[in-house]
Amino acid sequence: MNIAKIMHNNFKNVEKIVYGRGSFDQLDSILDPVRSENDGFMVFIVDNYFNGRPLVDRIPVKYGDVIEFVDVDPKEPTTEQIDEIRDRIREQNGMPSGVIGIGGGSIMDIAKALSLMFTNEGSSQLYQGLNLIKKPGIYHAGVPTISGTGAECSMTAVLTGPVKKLGLKCEWTVFNQIVLDPDLTASVPTNQWFYTGMDTYIHCIEAETGQYFNTFSKAYGDEALRLCREVYLGDNAGQSSENNEKLMMASLFGGLSLTYSEVGVCHALSYGLSYVFGTKHGYANCLAFNHLEDFYGKPVQEFKQMVERHNIDLPQNLAAGWTNEEIAKMAEISYNLPHMWRHALGDDWETKITQKDIEELFRRM
Ligand code: NAD
Ligand code: ZN
Repeated sequence: MNIAKIMHNNFKNVEKIVYGRGSFDQLDSILDPVRSENDGFMVFIVDNYFNGRPLVDRIPVKYGDVIEFVDVDPKEPTTEQIDEIRDRIREQNGMPSGVIGIGGGSIMDIAKALSLMFTNEGSSQLYQGLNLIKKPGIYHAGVPTISGTGAECSMTAVLTGPVKKLGLKCEWTVFNQIVLDPDLTASVPTNQWFYTGMDTYIHCIEAETGQYFNTFSKAYGDEALRLCREVYLGDNAGQSSENNEKLMMASLFGGLSLTYSEVGVCHALSYGLSYVFGTKHGYANCLAFNHLEDFYGKPVQEFKQMVERHNIDLPQNLAAGWTNEEIAKMAEISYNLPHMWRHALGDDWETKITQKDIEELFRRM
């Protein structure tokens, strides 16, 4: 190998992290120094699940702040949605000091994308891709209320646009601050706890099973997998305060493992499902991973044990209800993620898998 030719990933990490049960109540003092920036108000993007629930009373809302409840079901965040929120707030309130996302991966991605779109002109669909953003965004903080996506530490804000599902990916996407309070995840329903938690498990398995895998990725990935196994298969498996803490750290470590590797076959298929049917990311991953034993082997068996242990809903024979056109479109979306296939199958991936083969993978579901 010619070392001189390798470009090592120079990734940007989150600036500040506060961790611990109850740490959410530090948000007020964390935001204080930022409040004088721009037009002096904060935008809180909050998962609509919390509307009318006690957490809302703990959000440090001050005079002039905007609190925006966003329903993240059933569809994933879209470029249109980002543009609409940005345009409305700019017109009615001005330029915020910061944007704080309180919710799952969907909400955190909305907060990350908004931060960038407050300073970059035009529609967010212009910026779907790597390093297309022209200017740094405004201050942004993320407060996960469900664990698994790693969106709290990733360099991307995944959006579905008119032509593709792809992130706004650059250094400026990364949060200035994250608040990791495991207590916020206590109310997550069991199925969702599983689907989103499995995102981390699958991130680590895919990161480890491909050509970009390395010791950096392994160090974080191994620990994240260990924690996932305790949470989903250990003696005290299930939702509990202790396991909420573990899963929150697994999510962060899984995300960090991924910054230094890449996802693979499962995520490529999952993106196809999300694009065509709007299927939520974690659930789509589970639908796909369940049928990928020939790519990922034992971890798929382990995944099935976890499904059984927690009595998770995972429907079969979905493909019977899909049209050939839908399957072809999913395969096309999936095939057009070359970085994932290259990682999973090697530089000569195009000689190993065709769009027709990918259609067959969808027909298994
Ligand atoms: P989500 O944000 O879509 O939320 C899933 C469900 O859980 C929703 O119904 C939500 O209301 C509910 N929920 C969240 N917190 C809750 C709580 N404390 N109590 C009760 N209900 C709660 O789920 P997610 O799986 O975290 O995120 C998926 C999104 O993340 C997708 O849009 C995907 O594209 C994106 N994603 C981004 C990255 C990244 O690096 N940026 C990585 C993976 C996934
Ligand atoms: Zn994922």
